[in-house]
Amino acid sequence: MSVKYKTEALVFKKEDWSEADRIFSIFTYDFGKVQVIGKAIRKITSKLRGGLEIFSFCEIEFIQGKNRKILTDAVFLDKFKSIPQIPEKLAVAYKISDILDNFIKGEENDEKIWGLLVDIFEKLDTHFSKNFNYQLIYFYFFWNFISTLGHCPELSKCAACQQKLNPNDLYFSNKEGGVICRNCYIANTNAIKITSDAVKILRLILQKDWEVLLKLKIETSCQKDLEEILKNYYDYFI
Ligand SMILES: [Zn+2]
Repeated sequence: MSVKYKTEALVFKKEDWSEADRIFSIFTYDFGKVQVIGKAIRKITSKLRGGLEIFSFCEIEFIQGKNRKILTDAVFLDKFKSIPQIPEKLAVAYKISDILDNFIKGEENDEKIWGLLVDIFEKLDTHFSKNFNYQLIYFYFFWNFISTLGHCPELSKCAACQQKLNPNDLYFSNKEGGVICRNCYIANTNAIKITSDAVKILRLILQKDWEVLLKLKIETSCQKDLEEILKNYYDYFI
């Protein structure tokens, strides 16, 4: 008899496969990112039907098949139910899904990423206010995620020459991995100008100071800066 593996999992992607199967990309507590196949799961008679929805947290059981891991059981854990119902939340969840898909290649358990995912989905699930800046949750996830992979940006001194930064003249360089000074910008003209407000928010994100972040009023120009820098850093690694 095959060994059965049991673990907690977040489903972040699903694709239909052959006639009635479905492949799920999941991040698990014990094994990191894995793919499992739900055999005949799309058949009306499947006992697994409905157990594994996108962005649900589940307890799953699988066996190692010849080529793939085969799902044998899935129990939906009653968590994060508001996410699929609110388009703004769902949009952030899909962006997180893309990050997991693009940045994590092998199967390896990673407690830090698991902890960050649970934390982020809790944040996403909890906030309900109409004017809530959901993008902030995405920023928070991205920078902390990329830092756990070893690409934490330098924000306290010039990432190139290590000198003290002038808050009125800052640039973000992907190549140098952080904020650089005016002098270093001359040799790194691909760097992007960044305001000191945006740098302050990045620092708070990396310190995981969520309570303070929630109280901040982020100006539109600052939000745009943050979006641009994130997108550039993301593309740089992809
Ligand atoms: Zn410098």
